[in-house]
Amino acid sequence: MTARVAVITGGSRGIGRATALAAAKRGYLVCVGYATNEAAADEVVGRVAAEGGRAVAIRCDVGSEADIVALFEAAERLGPLGALVNNAGVVDATARLEDMSAARIQRMMAINVTGSLVCAREAVKRMSTRHGGRGGVIVNLSSAAARLGSPNTYVDYAASKGAIDTFTHGLAQEVAAEGIRVVAVRPGLIDTDIHASGGDPERAHRLSKSVPMQRVGTAEEIANAIVWLMSDEASYVTGSILDVSGGR
Ligand code: NAP
Repeated sequence: MTARVAVITGGSRGIGRATALAAAKRGYLVCVGYATNEAAADEVVGRVAAEGGRAVAIRCDVGSEADIVALFEAAERLGPLGALVNNAGVVDATARLEDMSAARIQRMMAINVTGSLVCAREAVKRMSTRHGGRGGVIVNLSSAAARLGSPNTYVDYAASKGAIDTFTHGLAQEVAAEGIRVVAVRPGLIDTDIHASGGDPERAHRLSKSVPMQRVGTAEEIANAIVWLMSDEASYVTGSILDVSGGR
């Protein structure tokens, strides 16, 4: 049997990296997407190979439609697409809305929202039985921010994740009879580089006391939920959004 391919955007670091390692262990040939950090993507590919799996690194800025199309064309050459994890996402500096430029908001939406929709479009074209595909799974990365709104921090980010929730509900219904399940995970405060990239490396740990479980989560705890949703054990799960947030 040819291994099915899983495309994981932003697979070079954090939650995407943990998901790439977990998906490879479950037999997927993993396309590790990355934006700029080639060394991190290569490390993931090397780790997968060392554990007996298969992965390739492909540069893809999800803010670019051309990059996304090229990513899926490269994935297609490796085997039949079985899964997309729409993981690539960004935050920005802590700010109130009055201080946000339109350029900042447009960048956030281009990467977090448009990027996820265009990746899903390319995946549906290849996985839908309507187009001769064998079906598959799309897992979108939302955030607890979609519920909480992130006031005084980044309401633009929270709004982008609210869009992911709505998109998950709609697309799940659109392709449910074509063999594709569409689900989302809402991580809470997870220990990754994303907080430093927003200029506040201690954010997750500082807020951990607001989590009912009194701690931050790990990238592996999110990856475990994602690969379960990708698996046949979740074969009747679609349109669902799973909170993995320690009760937050
Ligand atoms: P992270 O540690 O900052 O890693 C981000 C990953 O996305 C990297 O692999 C990075 O690639 C890639 N990336 C960044 N911009 C990109 C772009 N324009 N195009 C393609 N790839 C891009 O992030 P994370 O914490 O793992 O977050 C992953 C997802 O979970 C995001 O959607 C995030 O919103 C969501 N999430 C995270 C948390 C949390 O607390 N960590 C909570 C809720 C939701 P390079 O290595 O090349 O830079």
